[in-house]
Amino acid sequence: MTDATRKNPIISTVDFGRDGVQHGYLKLPYSRDDSAWGAVMIPITVVKNGTGPTALLTGGNHGDEYEGPIALSKLALTLMACDIQGRVIIVPFMNTPAFHAGTRVSPIDAGNLNRSFPGRPDGTVTEKIADYFQRTLLPMADIVLDIHSGGKTLDFVPFAACHVLCDKAAQSKAEAAMLAFGAPYAMRMLELDAVGMFDTAAEEMGKVFVATELGGGGSSSARTVAIADHGIRNLLIHSGILRGEVQLNESALLDMPDGDCFVTCEDSGLLEMCRDLGEKVSRGDLLARIHNIHRTGATPVEYRAKRSGLLVARHFPGLVQCGDTLVVVADVLV
Ligand code: ZN
Repeated sequence: MTDATRKNPIISTVDFGRDGVQHGYLKLPYSRDDSAWGAVMIPITVVKNGTGPTALLTGGNHGDEYEGPIALSKLALTLMACDIQGRVIIVPFMNTPAFHAGTRVSPIDAGNLNRSFPGRPDGTVTEKIADYFQRTLLPMADIVLDIHSGGKTLDFVPFAACHVLCDKAAQSKAEAAMLAFGAPYAMRMLELDAVGMFDTAAEEMGKVFVATELGGGGSSSARTVAIADHGIRNLLIHSGILRGEVQLNESALLDMPDGDCFVTCEDSGLLEMCRDLGEKVSRGDLLARIHNIHRTGATPVEYRAKRSGLLVARHFPGLVQCGDTLVVVADVLV
């Protein structure tokens, strides 16, 4: 039997074909010491009214990012079938074990869900979740919104993002959806490694895919949650699912044209940021100093911008390790 024919053990307690509002679970059997016949229960809400497009809205792909889980919990509570035409599938805590632990990856198998696609029906817990999205939920969707932020180790200026795609018609649809989201910034994003990402799985299936990075540091703010609330509503209207008018906030366009956007730390130590998120910097500007934590009297190592642009992401914790992404500088297009 191949992965394509093997059945995923996840059972949905909601009926994706039924009209109305249903709150239920994706039930993933997980036998363990404290529950021999236990299960990982992934909350899901389906709101459906007749025929029309389907939006798949996800948060908690990484377990320490909070704008998506908050905004989608509120949406699941308030969205009524009579408000929409089509279907909205809401999964606020996609990697539920990671979300409950408040960690980026799953405490069960150390799985990073956003590096686990297409997943495996007979794999680890995280791989089974990925497989269920790959083969059951993604095929139902026309448009996919995956809400991320920086988690405990990164902080971002708030942006919606799409990728550069080979299919230019698909890219322009993704860019229109990204702009409809209406975050303060809109980013054409370059991935360090796109293999195994939910984004890539959705894009390869021809779905309109929008991701976000709305903040970070392992918490959320009133401002970033409001951006998520507003963006979700806009995107559902833009998709023709939710009635109403898109209330567009102009987004500043950002681009990550090459690897010079990333400043990688080659030292370990105490991080002193010399410029802050959202500041414009010029090539050669001092961005950060790394101080020696093992002795006094040592000269700190300086890190400078490799390009001019906007400081869009930074390492969040006060200590930094060799290999960490220290800063991301993106081009400002308008
Ligand atoms: Zn994330």
